[in-house]
Amino acid sequence: MSELSIRQFPCLSDNYGFLIHDPASGETATIDTPDAEHILAEAKAAGWTITQIWNTHHHFDHAGGNAAIKAATGARIVAPSYERSRIPGIDLAVSEGDSVWLGNVEAKVMFTPGHTSGHIVYSLPGENIAFVGDTMFALGCGRLFEGTPQQMWASLSRLAALPDETVIYCAHEYTAANARFALSIDPDNGALQTYAAGVYAKRARGEATVPTTVAAEKAANPFVRAADPVIRARLDLAHAADAEVFAEIRRRKDAF
Ligand code: ZN
Ligand code: FE
Repeated sequence: MSELSIRQFPCLSDNYGFLIHDPASGETATIDTPDAEHILAEAKAAGWTITQIWNTHHHFDHAGGNAAIKAATGARIVAPSYERSRIPGIDLAVSEGDSVWLGNVEAKVMFTPGHTSGHIVYSLPGENIAFVGDTMFALGCGRLFEGTPQQMWASLSRLAALPDETVIYCAHEYTAANARFALSIDPDNGALQTYAAGVYAKRARGEATVPTTVAAEKAANPFVRAADPVIRARLDLAHAADAEVFAEIRRRKDAF
């Protein structure tokens, strides 16, 4: 492992900003650009200069600060090729399987459609971390604005298949609301009960519940547990396809 430093801070109403810094090369990337001024101030406070912007998808709370950060720093904009027409000023358009480098630190691009049609995740296998944008949340997942339940189920399943210890950096602090919903779907799950109690306690202290881990989400997040027999029985979907079970959970969340 390298000496990669990660600086996480709240942005806008419920986003997180993430800066990652590689001391060996001096490079710094911002994962998405929810609030340009705030992100530039955080970089300055750390003594870092942003050299790259890594976008997960085109939504304003993820790419809205691109132009201002590029104007201030000259950073190169790395963004999903699938959303090329919707993210202005891309310098490097990336697709499934591509590698992006921060110095000698490699991020692999995973195509994870569902929330938007061209959403990508940056997985850093050498660091055991992944920046998942609005695909997976702690105890939740992104709304299906552009993709189908089948697409989102496949995307979440790929994230759940990363090594258990992978640290998952998602883009929003939605966890307490997600926990209340998750308990409505899977009330007898002890891992979920413990996870939820920890989340409420952290929020009461004003602490972040992000990042999470693949292991924690596999044990408690109903959106990645559509194959679980207890959840299926509760939803009366014992014989449905996993993606259909996922779709029903997502529908219930939208109406919760
Ligand atoms: Zn979004
Ligand atoms: Fe978002």
